[in-house]
Amino acid sequence: MRLLIIEDEARIAEILQSALSRAGFTVDAVDLCDDGRAALAANPYDAVILDLGLPDGDGLALLKEMRAAGNTVAVLVLTARDAVEHRVAGLDAGADDYLIKPFAVAEVIARIKALLRRPEGALGATLRSGNIAFDTIGRDLRVGESVLVLPRRESAILEHLMRRAGRVVPKTVLEEKLYGIDDELGSNAIPVHVHHLRRKLLDNGATVEIHTVRGVGYLLVDGAT
Ligand code: CA
Repeated sequence: MRLLIIEDEARIAEILQSALSRAGFTVDAVDLCDDGRAALAANPYDAVILDLGLPDGDGLALLKEMRAAGNTVAVLVLTARDAVEHRVAGLDAGADDYLIKPFAVAEVIARIKALLRRPEGALGATLRSGNIAFDTIGRDLRVGESVLVLPRRESAILEHLMRRAGRVVPKTVLEEKLYGIDDELGSNAIPVHVHHLRRKLLDNGATVEIHTVRGVGYLLVDGAT
């Protein structure tokens, strides 16, 4: 598995490169958008770790350019906390996952492995579970024959649960996903959104259910299997 790191903070790039190499990946690292663009054109990568603030441009613009060109490589975005609220909407349009700096290296490795395990390709995939299908670009949810348009927070939660169907998603991870959509994320926000999602899934005859793992998070399970 070959990874590309596009990150201009040398220390972060070095730490990631060495940890991911030890984890068995082949890792290239560049510190400019332009070099990233060239590397992406030259090599087939399995995943990209992308910093957003780069000296010669915005990583988000590079990401949009990649997606527009049909590049579906898995992308994990690294971003500074103070920039999150401005960028989550953009991330929805192209990133597969993101981590807020500072982060633990072990978390980066875990997220990359999770991205690479995904059965569907990267962005552009329609996520499916049981009789539901979520279009990650159009953002609409099909349950059987019905098409539902979910509020952004609910669709963000559902997408994340579907990407990790059958595995527990910590509530803290969902909160991180919603940070920026909800500027003031109350402690009850996630349970309330999950409650609404459950109701909609149930009312429309979905075969999947969202289970609560007390004190940890949530889990999407296909009840029909
Ligand atoms: Ca940077």
